[in-house]
Amino acid sequence: SQFDAPQALTDGFQLVIDALKLNGIEHLYAVPGIPISDLLRMAQAEGLRVISFRHEQNAGNAAAIAGFLTKKPGVCLTVSAPGFLNGLTALANATTNCFPMILISGSSEREIVDLQQGDYEEMDQLAIARPHCKAAFRVLHAQDIGIAVARAIRAAVSGRPGGVYLDLPAKLFSQVMDEAAGRKSLVKVIDPAPAQLPDPNAVKRALDVLKNAKRPLILLGKGAAYVQADQEIRALVEKSGIPFLQMSMAKGLLPDTHPQSAGAARSMVLKDADVVLLVGARLNWLLSHGKGKTWGEPGSKKFIQIDIEPKEMDSNVEIVAPVVGDIGSCVSALLAGMDGQWPAPPADWTKAVVERREANIAKMAPKLMSNASPMNFHGALGALRRVVKERPDAILVNEGANTLDLARGIIDMYEPRKRLDVGTWGVMGIGMGYAVAAAVETGKPVLAIEGDSAFGFSGMEVETICRYKLPVCIVVFNNSGIYRGTDVNPTGGNDPSPMVFVPDSRYDKMMEAFGGVGVHVTAPDELYRAVSEAMDSGKPTLINAVIDPAAGTESGNIGSLNPQSTVRKA
Ligand code: ADP
Ligand code: MG
Repeated sequence: SQFDAPQALTDGFQLVIDALKLNGIEHLYAVPGIPISDLLRMAQAEGLRVISFRHEQNAGNAAAIAGFLTKKPGVCLTVSAPGFLNGLTALANATTNCFPMILISGSSEREIVDLQQGDYEEMDQLAIARPHCKAAFRVLHAQDIGIAVARAIRAAVSGRPGGVYLDLPAKLFSQVMDEAAGRKSLVKVIDPAPAQLPDPNAVKRALDVLKNAKRPLILLGKGAAYVQADQEIRALVEKSGIPFLQMSMAKGLLPDTHPQSAGAARSMVLKDADVVLLVGARLNWLLSHGKGKTWGEPGSKKFIQIDIEPKEMDSNVEIVAPVVGDIGSCVSALLAGMDGQWPAPPADWTKAVVERREANIAKMAPKLMSNASPMNFHGALGALRRVVKERPDAILVNEGANTLDLARGIIDMYEPRKRLDVGTWGVMGIGMGYAVAAAVETGKPVLAIEGDSAFGFSGMEVETICRYKLPVCIVVFNNSGIYRGTDVNPTGGNDPSPMVFVPDSRYDKMMEAFGGVGVHVTAPDELYRAVSEAMDSGKPTLINAVIDPAAGTESGNIGSLNPQSTVRKA
């Protein structure tokens, strides 16, 4: 009757926000537009931190690395069709890297899309997303938003983490329902990534193999960094006394300067070890698939592998002792089984590793001290190595070819999850997305060391960094080209070589355009001072570091992956 209180209502917009908040999502990485603009405005009004980017791929990369840093899915929102496709690259990259992420895209009217009648930004996004992620869901009714968000979160973080796609048609947002019923429809995910305990037989088998090793090696991958079982992993390494290697994003799990580190003896230990314990690292291309020259005599290795994904075992070579479970539980079980007196590995092995390491470090040292101008990679990286040593809690983002390969080897890391880079695909373009999320998620200063080519893929986000006043210092290693800046057009025509950029570019001016600090440096000591100042001030800064255009090698360390013509010389 006319005297009844008006019914309290909620809608799709509100339910999406409520469902995310209920599950502890605090940050949204997004590019606004139809149909998600109001959703983002309302989310900000409700206390979520909304970081608005200039391109969806960067917003997606930010969400992906937020997932890696926090073990909670990073959430990216995009518009339909092209915005969705831009975000999809990041979703696929997150899935490949085992980072938990949810891509939420608005979509057009399903009835029109399915009949292919030509809607605004028409695209069957759900079907396109599915092969590129762990799971893909579409929500058609407001009362299903709660369960859909719960499923997305669980799918992203449980088991092997990865990307999830959530398709929200425009019509869903304005669907109205009773507020109390809406509240009841929400689901708070309980224990989203449950412990997965290893089989005690598998643990015993692994320990037997490890105990009998003559030349054992522990290899830590970014899965080991992700799980945040830092103490247990360190205890396992130290109790065993076994030399360890850390994959790129695992660097700092134990300090690179740890006495058992075999980082500077990498080639030797991969070739000579007889038993290798893999912890959250895959035997993919980054480890030469566990075979070939890198790994010494064929059949000379026994692999023990800890991974949450059973299908990972035997993916490239035989795993003699698979230990399937979550790394925290598996490492704790190994430690428990090592009780009492665990025999130290044979001293001739550990001594040989230390000798090789120290010899390689000594060989490298003088190159890193060079203050030559124009700078080469070693001189410039020597300066940045010092900056990181003095600020071990800063986060390092790194991409490029030579800039990546050399920085990875030269810059020691001291704390877990401080090194973020191109990951499993070796992809360029992660730089600014990762830098933004690293600053937002951790509040720590961020140093992004970027090749000039790599920087170009996400460079417009310097505006985002300035707008949100993030403590990000970008160093562009500017050698005026891809790999090098010296390639010429063989025809003598006016077009430059496809491999070079405008010579003497001033990337620092880009930062100044948005109110950030721009610095131009040409020598390592200048670089050291400029970066130190930026890191201390926390002001958005871009340092244009001029590198000799002739420095650099084709594709950095992975030149062998370039196909070669046997008929013509490029
Ligand atoms: P890297 O590139 O550093 O070698 P990868 O990405 O190849 O590292 O490997 C990471 C591995 O870690 C993946 O195989 C993934 O399944 C595994 N992983 C991720 N999270 C966990 C976890 N919680 N417990 C066990 N393994 C995990
Ligand atoms: Mg370059």
